[in-house]
Amino acid sequence: MKYCYGPVLSRRLGVSLGIDIVPAKKCSFDCVYCQIGSTTEKTLRRFAYVDASILKKEISGVFAEKPKIDYITLAGSGEPTLHKSLDKIIALLKKTSGYSVPVCVITNSSLLYRKTVRRELMNADLIIPSLDTVTPSIFKKLNRPPREITVKKIVGGLMKLRKEFTGKIWLEIMLVAGLNDTEVEAGRLKKAIDLIKPDKVQVNLPVRPPAAKIEVPSPGKVKRFVEVIGGDVQVVDNRIRITGASRIARKIEKGVIELLRRRPATHHELKNSFGLDINEINRAIQMLIKTRKIKEIEQYGKKYFRIND
Ligand code: SF4
Repeated sequence: MKYCYGPVLSRRLGVSLGIDIVPAKKCSFDCVYCQIGSTTEKTLRRFAYVDASILKKEISGVFAEKPKIDYITLAGSGEPTLHKSLDKIIALLKKTSGYSVPVCVITNSSLLYRKTVRRELMNADLIIPSLDTVTPSIFKKLNRPPREITVKKIVGGLMKLRKEFTGKIWLEIMLVAGLNDTEVEAGRLKKAIDLIKPDKVQVNLPVRPPAAKIEVPSPGKVKRFVEVIGGDVQVVDNRIRITGASRIARKIEKGVIELLRRRPATHHELKNSFGLDINEINRAIQMLIKTRKIKEIEQYGKKYFRIND
């Protein structure tokens, strides 16, 4: 498919159907932790990239199989708000899915200072905007923004979004060792969070291969950072399993079965679809083979997994 990927299992969103509406790798930032790779076109220009008829066909195809999907998520290879008339895309996704699944938009917050962009997001159900730092010098090193985008503009945009948007806002902070993982940074961010008033704050860690050479903060640093932020902060982390490991494993297994019900898939396809750590996919595959829920077959010299019926 051209625009849809998954459904993938996401730690934060459950089973999520990804929609990739901006080509790789056009973004307003060039974050050091970006797992897609370095930005090839850093831009603030918005453009209508998607062919709506193809997107509609793809969504119809996915929902014809009545999948259990928790969210339709606009994210992917570039910054989604760089797509012009995002409201039309959100309306198309809702209508084509029969208004049965909430729509989530993951954004780097860079364009939220623009009234048009905020207005186009009004019909989303959940917005996950990023705010990694409020210190200009760290912002430059971490997110590598264009000159026009400042921390002040971003925080202002987020505050306006909170006033205008009636859906949920989960603020995401990506923590990078030696850049924004200090208590001083946490204290500054806390002040901004108190002004923005998101429904939830999530601290994420760059555990997948990033664009630049960076380090994941130690569990001790993460713990201290979260304590300073205070409140009910959720840590999204593949390494430190604080709670819910078996629940996540069960979700992965369920997701693998859902996917294999639709079609057989190779190990590589399963790994990419779920966008998770290879060990977790391997664990799920082994468990499902052991319990005879799936089996391995060979076709034209290629190994596939399929439902064991
Ligand atoms: S992490 Fe997101 S905002 Fe940062 S460069 Fe990658 S796609 Fe852009």
